Parts: sequence; C-alpha cells; structure tokens
Amino acid sequence: MEQVIIIRYAEIHLKGKNRGYFERVFANNLEKAMKGIRHEIHRTSGRYLVADFDEERTDEIMRRVSKVFGVHSYSLGLLTENDEGSIFEAVKLLAPQEGTFKVQTHRGDKHYPLTSMEISACIGGRLLDENHNLRVDVHTPQHTIYIDIRESGRALIFCSFADGLHGMPVSTAGKGLLLISGGIDSPVAGYMMAKRGMTVGMLHFHSYPYTNEAAKEKVVSLAKILSDYTLVNRITTVSVTQIQEEIHRKCAAELNVTLLRRFMFRIAERIAKYEGDGCLVTGESLGQVASQTLEGLTSSNAVVKLPVLRPLIGFDKEDIIEVAKKIGTYETSTLPYEDCCTVFLPDFPAIKPKLSFIEEEEGKLDVDALVEGALATREVIKF
Ligand code: ATP
Ligand code: MG
Repeated sequence: MEQVIIIRYAEIHLKGKNRGYFERVFANNLEKAMKGIRHEIHRTSGRYLVADFDEERTDEIMRRVSKVFGVHSYSLGLLTENDEGSIFEAVKLLAPQEGTFKVQTHRGDKHYPLTSMEISACIGGRLLDENHNLRVDVHTPQHTIYIDIRESGRALIFCSFADGLHGMPVSTAGKGLLLISGGIDSPVAGYMMAKRGMTVGMLHFHSYPYTNEAAKEKVVSLAKILSDYTLVNRITTVSVTQIQEEIHRKCAAELNVTLLRRFMFRIAERIAKYEGDGCLVTGESLGQVASQTLEGLTSSNAVVKLPVLRPLIGFDKEDIIEVAKKIGTYETSTLPYEDCCTVFLPDFPAIKPKLSFIEEEEGKLDVDALVEGALATREVIKF
C-alpha cells in the first residue's frame, strides 16, 4: 500500500485523435510543476498518479497540482492491491472515527468478481463491525469513502475530491507574448490565455531611472506568481525611458500615452519575433481608461501585424480583481510603485485620438531609431 495523489484531467478527453499529444503535454506539465520535489508520475486509464513522493511535502505538492491547467480534480489517497483484505486495510486508515458514512465504489475493471454495490456493502459492513461509533447513511453521509477498482489489479481509496483549475494544458495552444505591467490586469490576462493552453512569455517596459528598482522587482514577483500557472520562468525587460523623454519633448502632451503605447506594441512585436510568439496579449478592457477606447485600441493595433489578444476586453474591474485575488497576484499588484505609463502622464489624455493627428505628432520622432535604441536595452531575467 502506498500514498498517492490521484489526478483526473479535464477537457483533454474531448480532443479525439490528438488525445495522445494532449496527454503527453499534460504529463510533462505535471513534471515541470513538481520540479525540485522527489516524486514519480504514473498513468493509469484516465488518471495520473503522483507516487513515491516526499510525504513531508504533501501539502506543497497538492498546492502545485492545484495550479496546473487541465486538472479536473485531485485527491490524496492510497494505492493498494485490489483484494478485499488489502482494500479494507486501506479503508481503515482513511475512515473517520465517528459519525455517518457511506462507501462508494467505482469499478474500472468490469471483470472484478464483485459488483460495485457488493464491494461497498462488504467493506462498509466490515467497518461497522470494527467501529461502533460509525453509522451508515447513504443519502447525506458526513463522510464518503471512495473505492476505485483499477484494471491493473490495484485499487485506489480516497475520501475527498479537490476541484482543479480545469482549462487546457499549457503549451497546447501556441505561444503569445504578454505585455505585463505592475498593475492588476495584465497578470490576469496572462492567466486567462494560459488557461486556454497558450504558452505565455512575458515582456515588461520600465522607465529607469524614473521608475525604480522596487518597481522592477514588483513585476518580477508578479511574473513568478504567474509562472506557477504558465510554467514559463523568464521575463524580458526593455527600457522606454528615451522614448518617453522624446515624446515628452516633442509631441502634444495629450498624446503621450497613445504614442507610448504604439511604441510598446512595435517593440513587443519585434521581441515576439525573436522569441517565436504568434500574438501579443494585453490586459486591456474596453473603456477602462482613456487609452482603452475603441479608438485607442485601434491606434495601437495599427502599428503591428501580429494579432493582439485582449482576454479581459469585456470584463469589469471587479471581475478582474476577483480573479487576481484567486490566483494570488492582487496583493503584489496593489503595492505602490510607479509604472512607466504614469511617469509622464498628461492631465488630460486624448480619449478619441484621430489617427491623422497621431501620425502627424509621431512624424516628429525618429521612430525606427527609437525602437532600435529600446531593443538594445533588452534584458532577460530568469528565475
Ligand atoms: P494593468 O493593470 O495591466 O497595468 P491598466 O488598466 O493599468 O492595466 P494600462 O496601464 O493602460 O492599463 O495598460 C494596458 C495594458 O498595456 C496592460 O494591461 C499591459 O498589458 C500593457 N502595459 C501597460 N504598461 C506596461 C508596461 N510597463 N510594460 C508592459 N506592458 C504594459
Ligand atoms: Mg497599468
């Protein structure tokens, strides 16, 4: 008998002919999530078992499993031989000491000599004989003991299910480059794309020395939290200081943000090409701020060819905050450090900038040279 973590997977089973591929990626992602912890992962019809693991780190393993996309549910349980005696020994270890219970059996092995009902009745009966503080209640039991008879001559015994994150295994749906700020929205946007199976690379723009080291560390902390879900352990940073200074010096103040965003998109597209990403991802939400009007979004789309995915486009701020709290980025996102966008923020940013006006103002800048200059400041931080 041994302790195992039973992992059931989610949408993957829908994928027909690609099923084998999705399962391999999923198993690989589980392996990555377990990095640094002793363990084995085995596959058994429709489930994965984490076995032979460091039991002192059980809670941590469970926490890590809870962040892997594609997990439908997971349980801590026991793996044993499937004869009645072994099953009963395992059940005894997990059974409650008092209260009401039922035994629920699932027979993966249809050749097993007893039916599911017979197994439940037999094991439940033996448990009652041994412990008079227990009572059976098949309708509303306080405790349920699950027995899962597998084809391999083994059985799994467990007492509860934890809900997984669902979604698709990351790296089954292409690669995108997330423009990540220190704010609340962009980490949530990255999480949402990863949930659909995208590999989410990260790019952050800073305005050092206007923004300080703490601001950068805040973003790296966010990137680390996000990496538990995305399994991507690196972030690229680029300085837009020179660009912001130039815009500030030469262009109409109300266009500061609009122009900066167009530069960010151009630079991001270049980085995406280096890194092999097929789209950009942002945390924009329609109408949330002046630069996120339809005109604002259009003006930044106009400078890139790659698709720009905006998973939060129809989200209210409260909805975004709810997800940020759930995934653990909210606290870090609300630490008070300045983002580069706020450094030269105009009092009255243009809400519906006309493309002709934008292009006229941008014409005062050497766009290509500024983009090249910014790309030269590129740094990759691995963690
Ligand atoms: P967030 O909470 O993600 O910062 P926001 O509501 O503050 O979003 P903006 O600051 O206008 O909105 O940014 C819109 C999007 O542009 C962000 O969600 C992010 O994808 C990208 N972005 C903004 N600032 C940066 C930055 N410094 N580096 C990288 N991307 C950025
Ligand atoms: Mg922001």
